[in-house]
Amino acid sequence: MMPNVDEKTEKIFSYCIHCAALCGVVAYVKDRYLIKVEGDPESINNAATLCPKGLSAKQEIYHPDRLKYPMKRTRPKGDREPGWVRISWEEALDTIAARMKEIRERDGPQAFFFQKGSTDGSSGAEWYRFFYRLSALYGSPNHGGTGHICCYSRSCPGLPTHLGGRGLHPAIDYDRTKLVFLVGYNILHTKPPLARKILEAKQRGAKLIVVDPMLSPTAAKADIWLALRPGTDLALFLAMHHVIIR
Ligand code: SF4
Repeated sequence: MMPNVDEKTEKIFSYCIHCAALCGVVAYVKDRYLIKVEGDPESINNAATLCPKGLSAKQEIYHPDRLKYPMKRTRPKGDREPGWVRISWEEALDTIAARMKEIRERDGPQAFFFQKGSTDGSSGAEWYRFFYRLSALYGSPNHGGTGHICCYSRSCPGLPTHLGGRGLHPAIDYDRTKLVFLVGYNILHTKPPLARKILEAKQRGAKLIVVDPMLSPTAAKADIWLALRPGTDLALFLAMHHVIIR
């Protein structure tokens, strides 16, 4: 039976690892069991709020399908049934090391690409430099993360081209802005700390426009909800350019 929160329950202050917002979390733990998580009311980031991703921490830990051990495929790739079997960490590390050596000897170190997941907000922020060091020791300059296949084209050539210089946005002045324009961004669910700043701006009179085909929780708070037909975003922005330039 699931334990209840009582005087023996420990309150552990931590942070959510699911995105760069780094929301403060209070974890209620009893007998090494996580009973629940809540937003930390003292956190300047999220002030007691957590988005659905942060609130799902418990499901992530106790989900029956959570991968807890190295698994090895025993059937050939492409086979409908991979035949996963559990192996020890020693066997997993030995297998990986042997394959890495084999590739380096046969094809050269540059044939190996080191790809990692997102570091923002995750424990990857602590280990990613060691990961890059591993790639350098191996002899491969080829390493990347989620940013390389997600936002580099926007950040590297895109923003400097449009904004000049290093292409950096000015810091967003939530305290004085009079208009917030969100496009396809359900910020109430995806980044509550920033959503709070927008709602505060709204309370002191700023207008909120949300472009989204869906009546998301954020769109429901908007002064103007622009429910575009999917795929017509470009037409909207070109029309705005037209009016501004004319
Ligand atoms: S916004 Fe959500 S996912 Fe990101 S740190 Fe906060 S609770 Fe976690």
